[in-house]
Amino acid sequence: MTRPAIAIHGGAGVMRKITRSKEGAYLAGLTRALEAGYRVLEKGGASLDAVTAAVVALEDDPLFNAGRGAVYSSAGTHELDASIMDGKTLRAGAVAAVSRIKNPVLAARAVMEKSPNVLLAGRAAEQFAKRNGLALVRPAYFHTAERLADLRKGRKSCHGTVGAVALDRRGNLAAATSTGGYTGKAPGRIGDSPIIGAGTYADNASCAVSGTGWGEAFIRLAIAHEVCARMRYRGDSLARAAAFALARLKRLGGDGGLVAVDRRGTIAMPFNSRGMLRACVGSDGGRVVRIC
Ligand code: ASP
Repeated sequence: MTRPAIAIHGGAGVMRKITRSKEGAYLAGLTRALEAGYRVLEKGGASLDAVTAAVVALEDDPLFNAGRGAVYSSAGTHELDASIMDGKTLRAGAVAAVSRIKNPVLAARAVMEKSPNVLLAGRAAEQFAKRNGLALVRPAYFHTAERLADLRKGRKSCHGTVGAVALDRRGNLAAATSTGGYTGKAPGRIGDSPIIGAGTYADNASCAVSGTGWGEAFIRLAIAHEVCARMRYRGDSLARAAAFALARLKRLGGDGGLVAVDRRGTIAMPFNSRGMLRACVGSDGGRVVRIC
C-alpha cells in the first residue's frame, strides 16, 4: 500500500494584497481544503475524490479566485474554467467560460465521467451540468464587493486560481484546477486551467500537476505536461522537472507556480512569483501551510 500525499494551491502572486488581518483567513481556508482532501485519502479513498473535495472547498470559499470568489471579466461578467485528470486511466474532463455552474470542478468531472468529450464550453457546458444534476446559480452568486472594486479601480489582477494534486493508497495520481481567470480578462478568453497539459495533468507513470500563473504562457509551454514528460522521458526527479518547467516559464516572461506529486509521494510546490498560497500533507503525514 502506498502512503497517500496531497498538495493544494490557492494561486500565485497574491502576496502584496494579503494584509495581516486576512492572513489568518487564507491560512484557515487552505487548511480546510487540505484536510477535506486528505480525509478522503486517509480513509482509503481515491485521489480523484481527494482532489475534487479539496477544489470544491476552495471554490466555495470567496477568498479564492475560483467558484464563488471568481474575478470579473472586462465586461463585468464571471467566466469560470476548470479541469480534472485521472492519472490511472488518463481520462480527463474540463469546462471553460461557464457563468452559472456553482462548482466548475464538479462539471469537469461530469464531463470526464459522463460524456465522450474532454472539454465543454459556455452555455452548452452549463446545460450539460444541469442535465447531470449539478447546481446552477444566478450570476449574483459570484458577486463579491472586493472583486468588483478590483475591476473598477483597474487594479492589477492577482492570481488566485486553485488546484490540487494527490496520490492515494492504491498508487493512483490525480490533479484538478479551477479558476475565474484574471480581473479584466477579455470575454471569451480561456486560460490554461481547463487545458489538459497546460494547467493540469496527471499520469501514474510520472506525476500529477496543477498550475497557477500567467495562463497564456502555461498554454504555450504545455507546462503541466512538460513536468510529467521530463520525468518520464529523461528520468528527472520531480523537483528537477518542475524547476525546469518554471525556468522555461520565466524565459517567456511568465510568472506563476505549480503543485505536483509523484507516484512515490514526493511533493514539489515551486513558484517564481512573489508568493503562492499552498499547502500539503506529505507521505510522512507532515503538514505545510504557507502563503508566501
Ligand atoms: N492561470 C490562470 C489563468 O490564466 C490564472 C491564475 O492562475 O491566476 O486563467
